[in-house]
Amino acid sequence: MSISNPVFTKINESFPCQNCGALVPQAQSTCRDHCPNCLFSIHVDINPGDRAAECKGKLRPIAWSQHKKKGYMIHYQCESCGLEKVNKFLEHDSYQADNLSELLKLSSVTKVKS
Ligand SMILES: [Zn+2]
Ligand SMILES: [Zn+2]
Repeated sequence: MSISNPVFTKINESFPCQNCGALVPQAQSTCRDHCPNCLFSIHVDINPGDRAAECKGKLRPIAWSQHKKKGYMIHYQCESCGLEKVNKFLEHDSYQADNLSELLKLSSVTKVKS
């Protein structure tokens, strides 16, 4: 059995935001997949950066939380399939940091501490 298995490398390039049209720039530190302006993302990854999801729906930011080590986290829900996802908020990035005031407009999620 032979399956065509393209090698998915991490894609880290600019693309226009599907929600507000702003150009989503690269990030230096990580594979950016969300708009620094409105924080919308696209449902393209199963694992971060793999672009293996076929949904391609818009991921709407619905809430935020604070992670002990990673800092602010953005909670998403896909407008197409309803999947919920959490992504790291880029508070510091040498290209363009995410819009913190936009994040804080969302409701905060208090995680249950284990
Ligand atoms: Zn946007
Ligand atoms: Zn989806």
